[in-house]
Amino acid sequence: MSWFTKTIEEKKPQKKALWVQCKKCSSHLWEKEWKDNLNVCPHCNYHDSITSRQRIDLIFDKGSFTELFDNISPVDSLNFVDLKGSYKDKIEANIRKSGISEAVVTGHGRINGIEAVTAVMDFRFLGGSLGSGTGEKILQAANFAYEQGIPYIVFSASGGARMQEGVLSLMQMAKTCAGVARLNKKNIPYISVLLNPTTGGVTASYAMMGDLNISEPGAVIGFAGRRVIEQTIGEKLPDDFQTAEYLLEHGFIDAIVQRKDMKDYLANVLSYYNR
Ligand SMILES: [Zn+2]
Repeated sequence: MSWFTKTIEEKKPQKKALWVQCKKCSSHLWEKEWKDNLNVCPHCNYHDSITSRQRIDLIFDKGSFTELFDNISPVDSLNFVDLKGSYKDKIEANIRKSGISEAVVTGHGRINGIEAVTAVMDFRFLGGSLGSGTGEKILQAANFAYEQGIPYIVFSASGGARMQEGVLSLMQMAKTCAGVARLNKKNIPYISVLLNPTTGGVTASYAMMGDLNISEPGAVIGFAGRRVIEQTIGEKLPDDFQTAEYLLEHGFIDAIVQRKDMKDYLANVLSYYNR
């Protein structure tokens, strides 16, 4: 057959991989085994990321969760454009990719029967960055917890402040801190769960303000990156620097909780609170 008459074969759809490779120990696992184990490696206990929806399903009693403030989405106040394109296009692409309208999902539900308000950050959405919409949702959820007298739990997973919003994103640090600090006035518990990774302006604001600050094993938690600090102080940092384990050892967090135990742990903590 001549080259010119040969028909172009249609691309066959790629088969879905049945295996997952652990990012830490490189073990291969059946995808089902991986999912059944909540995206945690059974060999090295590496806690891989899960989506905000998966976390809500994991923590809240079935059918009890009601989403709040889902009408809030990012605002491109600066008409920001960089070499890779406009912020507006990035927002639209991230909404399509993740199925959520901001880097955090807020709402309330029950954990083993106990009521809680929550904000669950999602790293898939612009690296879980803290923009004005993200800050607004976290604040609104804190206000809801304040008005209703319900404990507030924030799950953080973030690369820090959202660069595309400039100083407006930095303002969210003060705004969210004010929101969670107000809960103290009514003695409403605020629990911060730091997930992998929690860095930059999120670590430097509400994520470290919990009455209880807890983390999943191996989570990277810090402000500036390791390389920046090493270059600034001219010293090599320990290998486990900026890990949840290092922070626990040095008193910066209160506990490390396995993903499979998180729901019962939170329910137990909340059970001590009498409204
Ligand atoms: Zn592993």
